[in-house]
Amino acid sequence: MRILVLIAIGLLLYFIIGNLLRKNRQQAPLIGEKMVQCKHCKLHILEQEALRSSDDYYCSQEHLDESK
Ligand SMILES: [Zn+2]
Repeated sequence: MRILVLIAIGLLLYFIIGNLLRKNRQQAPLIGEKMVQCKHCKLHILEQEALRSSDDYYCSQEHLDESK
C-alpha cells in the first residue's frame, strides 16, 4: 500500500514539474523577443512579425503602403 502512495506522489510531482517547465518555455520567447509598434495603427507586434520600412515598423503590408 505504501508503494502506491509513493507512486501517486511521484506522478503528482511529475505533472507539477512538467507544468512548470511548460509554462517557462511558453514565457521565454516573449521575454526574449522585442515588441514594436505599427506606425500606422499603433498596434503592438513582435519585431520578427512586423514589416519594416527604413526605421519604421508596420503590422501589415496595407499599413506600410498607406503610410508611404
Ligand atoms: Zn497597422
